[in-house]
Amino acid sequence: MKGTVQITVPCGVVSKTILEGIGRLQRESVIGIRGTIKKMPKAPRGVEIIPEELRILNIAKPLPFEMRGRARLDIRLDERTLDLRRPESRAIFRIRHATLNAIRSFLLKEGYMEIQTPKIIASATEGGAALFPIIYYGREAFLAQSPQLYKEQLASVYEKVFEIGPVFRAEEFHTTRHLCEITSVDIEEAFVKAEDVMRVLESMIAFVIEIIKTKCDYELLILKRRLEIPRLPFPRFTYDDILEELRREDIHITWGEDLPTPALRKLGRLHKDYYFITDWPTQSKPFYMLPRGDNPRICDAFDLMHGWIEIASGGTRIHTRKLLEKRIKEQGLTPESFTFHLKVFDYGMPPHAGWGLGLERLLMALTGKKNIREVIFFPRDPRRLKP
Ligand code: ATP
Ligand code: MG
Repeated sequence: MKGTVQITVPCGVVSKTILEGIGRLQRESVIGIRGTIKKMPKAPRGVEIIPEELRILNIAKPLPFEMRGRARLDIRLDERTLDLRRPESRAIFRIRHATLNAIRSFLLKEGYMEIQTPKIIASATEGGAALFPIIYYGREAFLAQSPQLYKEQLASVYEKVFEIGPVFRAEEFHTTRHLCEITSVDIEEAFVKAEDVMRVLESMIAFVIEIIKTKCDYELLILKRRLEIPRLPFPRFTYDDILEELRREDIHITWGEDLPTPALRKLGRLHKDYYFITDWPTQSKPFYMLPRGDNPRICDAFDLMHGWIEIASGGTRIHTRKLLEKRIKEQGLTPESFTFHLKVFDYGMPPHAGWGLGLERLLMALTGKKNIREVIFFPRDPRRLKP
């Protein structure tokens, strides 16, 4: 048995030692109780325990916030371990646990092999700005912002690979959807295109929701969250469709630019559920995305959105060395720093595609939490390095 149970201490029935002991307790103290179970229809589980023996294992000090009330998020995060004992926080992390399990079992069932790639790396993958530099035996190195290059290399060996692991982003701004350390779910697959991995992604999301609905019904109840299994396929809009839609709402975006936050907010009001944005301008995406043969200004990349929040990014990758080198230069990076990666393309690199999904972003969609810090045990952001 697990959960909460009511303990009632009627004066005159339980011993004086127990009464005194109970009197010394503070909220969240740790105790052991032996006693008689009595029916009590009004109690939370329909029973209560009348103690015959009390063991005080550890008395808590007065708490910094009211466990059942509302406390400011930053105060709760300062005392995160205590905060996690609140039913709502506990429910979120049960869902996180179930989500990770569901993702892993889905990808294994689909034939992907789990890989681990280095988190200390020598060069940028998603552009230089968001990197954390570190000193590696006197040399400059970085914390990995994505497993991108390594998962592509391993897809050339195992064809279908996935990784669930940390990635690091030196974000400059303090937002409700950015952290500096996240868990990224990545897949990469040989001999397929963007559309194929989009289908894997949307089926995985639907599978996860189905599992959460059945396995976490209690947690969803605590969070007052209703989940619907989304219909497949998810709607697909091109970048140009989206720009046009925004223009009608009087938001004007220069072709080629990424979508700024106000535009995303507007999109979230127009599209509440999951949808894809495809056919992105090549200049707005990382160097490894495959430009279209018929129109190289556009690449075969997609984002998966939920309302205004980006959940995943992916696409068909470049698989020839010459084009990859050209794109690295065009993005203002130096091919020399990618020699270790480029030479793999000389030994027979199959065409391939994949995506990366931010676990915490998906959890925001699943739990309905508006601040990403709610869905990670110990958030790291530009202002927070502790606890
Ligand atoms: P955004 O535009 O929202 O900052 P991005 O396009 O820079 O994200 P990608 O490089 O595409 O991010 O990373 C893949 C996925 O990782 C994103 O779709 C998102 O789910 C997640 N992600 C990226 N950066 C962060 C971050 N700083 N905090 C939380 N999740 C992130
Ligand atoms: Mg992206």
